[in-house]
Amino acid sequence: MNAPTTTASYVFPPQAVPSLPIRGSAMMFPVHRIYCVGRNYADHAIEMGHDPNREPPFFFQKNPDTLVGNGGVFPYPDKSNDVHHELEMVVALKSGGKDIPVEKALGHVFGYAVGLDMTRRDLQGEAKKMGRPWEIGKAFEHSAPCSEIVPSADIGHPAKGAVWLKVNGVEKQKGDLDQLIWKVPEMISYLSGLFELKSGDLIYSGTPAGVAAVKKGDVMLGGVDGIGELKITVG
Ligand code: MN
Repeated sequence: MNAPTTTASYVFPPQAVPSLPIRGSAMMFPVHRIYCVGRNYADHAIEMGHDPNREPPFFFQKNPDTLVGNGGVFPYPDKSNDVHHELEMVVALKSGGKDIPVEKALGHVFGYAVGLDMTRRDLQGEAKKMGRPWEIGKAFEHSAPCSEIVPSADIGHPAKGAVWLKVNGVEKQKGDLDQLIWKVPEMISYLSGLFELKSGDLIYSGTPAGVAAVKKGDVMLGGVDGIGELKITVG
């Protein structure tokens, strides 16, 4: 196999680079990979400091071309009757590496966004039961709505602030960033031991309690205080 060269021509045009707008900039954020953290909020606030019994975080991936921009439509997907919303803070990386130390992790963050980890819960449940991968439950078309990226140069690194979602004006999910079991620097560090992180990677940081099914016509409005909001209609 020959390595591609800078003069390579393609047999058909390559797919577009998935990207997200950046608040306050005319430039786009090019997305490389989308990582998602599994369960990352305790039922109750971890008000006594960290939980000594926490298990290592676990991750899955979504395909970058499943992103949907703010104000967009999430078409109700095929092959499911139980599609859930999971509102999450998203971490956007400007650089990466392997085995990033916790204390260096925030230096790789470009900014933050508000995302939805849309889930075909019935298919995910079957996959769990059968010990199969989660892709069909998690990585389907349009499954990763995401707001514009807000640069940490403007807002710093929020560690506290409500994480919430309303459906048709009714509150469904409510948590706070200070309830994250694995904090942002820890999740970056841990993930970088399993994968080589790169500029353009997004990390969906997990969802607070209150996930539930959506139906066609629902309007999902979610936010992370200090970062922004995301509005998506189920089509
Ligand atoms: Mn999730």
